[in-house]
Amino acid sequence: MKIEVIENVLKYNKDQADKNRKLFKDSMLLVLNLLSSPGSGKTSLILETLKRLKGKKNIGVIEGDISSTYDAEKIGKLTDNVIQINTGGSCHLNASMIEKAISKLKIKRLDLLIIENVGNLICPSGFDLGEDHKIVMSSVSEGDDKPVKYPPVFIKSDLIILNKIDLLKISDFNQNFFENKVKELNPLSDIIKLSCKTGIGMEEWIEWVLNRCKIRN
Ligand code: MG
Ligand code: ZN
Repeated sequence: MKIEVIENVLKYNKDQADKNRKLFKDSMLLVLNLLSSPGSGKTSLILETLKRLKGKKNIGVIEGDISSTYDAEKIGKLTDNVIQINTGGSCHLNASMIEKAISKLKIKRLDLLIIENVGNLICPSGFDLGEDHKIVMSSVSEGDDKPVKYPPVFIKSDLIILNKIDLLKISDFNQNFFENKVKELNPLSDIIKLSCKTGIGMEEWIEWVLNRCKIRN
């Protein structure tokens, strides 16, 4: 009985995600679903991205948190195209929440939509939002064992970002171990190492995004 309930929830979510996907496709919008544990630097990456693509791409942001508008207020200093979703305790975003949020954004005018999921490496990876790419961010301060402990999110992501590499020199984080585990789980994924704080690696990230934006005819 219990398994059937979960299957129904996921089936319902998948149907809604397919509707979102169609809308995103029709709007020529690139949609990125950003996943990580709390404190990896998702919001910092979004802020840096907004600064670097200002005047080049129109970007919308959906901020997912269990409560507060703290991150959306930071983003709101750089763009009006930001919507905060408070999940009211739920530890992940689902496709219906995204449907409601995008109804408040002028998505036909946007080139890129970044969804900051709830900080959690476990269940957000199981909920399709209709995005083009899942991206998982891990950071040096969390340790090099995240791919070993939380495989599904690394398997499902097209890009793995390692943030806070400015801390490598004062940490025993083993880069080879981390990268080898990622490649074992997901040989086709891209890995970008960066620091939102120092800016190192940010150009590679921006290029990754720009290469995936859709071309309007
Ligand atoms: Mg955040
Ligand atoms: Zn959850």
